[in-house]
Amino acid sequence: MARPADDDQTTGTRPDPSRRSALLTLAGAAVAAAGGAWWWRSAASASEGSQDAIATPSEPLPRGRAPVSLFYTSAYVGAAHAFETTRKAAWVAQSLIEAPIPGLQLTTHDALTADEVLAVHAPAYVEAVRTGEPRDLAQSQGFPWDAALWPMVVASNGGAVAAARAALATGGIAGALASGLHHARRDHGAGFCTFNGLVIAALQALAGKAKRVLILDFDAHCGGGTHSLLGEHPAVRIVDVAVDGFDAYLPLGANTLDRVTSADAYLPTISRRLAALDGDRFDLCLYNAGMDPHEGCPVGGLAGIDAAVLGERERMVFDWARQRKLPLAFVLAGGYLGPTLAQDELVALHRLTLAAAAQPPR
Ligand SMILES: [Zn+2]
Repeated sequence: MARPADDDQTTGTRPDPSRRSALLTLAGAAVAAAGGAWWWRSAASASEGSQDAIATPSEPLPRGRAPVSLFYTSAYVGAAHAFETTRKAAWVAQSLIEAPIPGLQLTTHDALTADEVLAVHAPAYVEAVRTGEPRDLAQSQGFPWDAALWPMVVASNGGAVAAARAALATGGIAGALASGLHHARRDHGAGFCTFNGLVIAALQALAGKAKRVLILDFDAHCGGGTHSLLGEHPAVRIVDVAVDGFDAYLPLGANTLDRVTSADAYLPTISRRLAALDGDRFDLCLYNAGMDPHEGCPVGGLAGIDAAVLGERERMVFDWARQRKLPLAFVLAGGYLGPTLAQDELVALHRLTLAAAAQPPR
């Protein structure tokens, strides 16, 4: 997290850089096989002008239910710098080839155009990410720039937009294997987040038929970038439950930011915040489904939050949305390897989100 945000009212701790460096080395080794062999089959629902074909699980879909679209393209992992945020989508996609989740359909989509990014981000910053100059601005999210960064971030941010469009179109759930969004500001990146696809998706939805948008941010870290861009928007409400003080902010209006410091309080806090939304009406929920609250994550983890807790969190969120017939679009968000969290375990954590998204309500 190379550059403190200018408008960031951070009050909490930041990850120790040396620990972070060790973590990234570990991650780099772990992703060596991430490219892997792909099993290609064009998704039936792939849009015209798609960037590439996409592998689709061959499992039969449950009867009577439309599949949940899960957006992904190989460009999501194009940047040269290899760590969780730039490789994790491929790990999860590969896991779906090897062990499909019934009811979930990997689907390709178009990348964002520069104009779509410019609707939220400053021209000088967008140009820096595209060209690499000035380099400190191009790398303000905290990892080295290379020419594949721009195609990567317009693809992965486009996944958030595609998921929001699909959720609105179907009235149901859709997702994207995107991460690295919620710390990004208008004029620079932060905390491994280059552009803020949550904000781009919210504003595009509001420019269409959506009248009000809810953003649930249950990543371990606070979503200060999202709040800096939408905290005063009258048609957006942000519910942020974090377990780490990085990128904290003072929530404006009806927005809320909880920093949970005890695992015992984690699910009750989320349950209470969801219940408090019952009197409000939304047309779309954008869900930043970070797995970095897991106790094994060196960046963000809280002791006592394990896979069972996070699985229950995901069931709570998706059941809550389904019971209200609220269209929901989710992205992966944070999740980091550590001495006690191996790559397959991290993938399994993110699959908790996918499984809950694909399941019928309890
Ligand atoms: Zn995080």
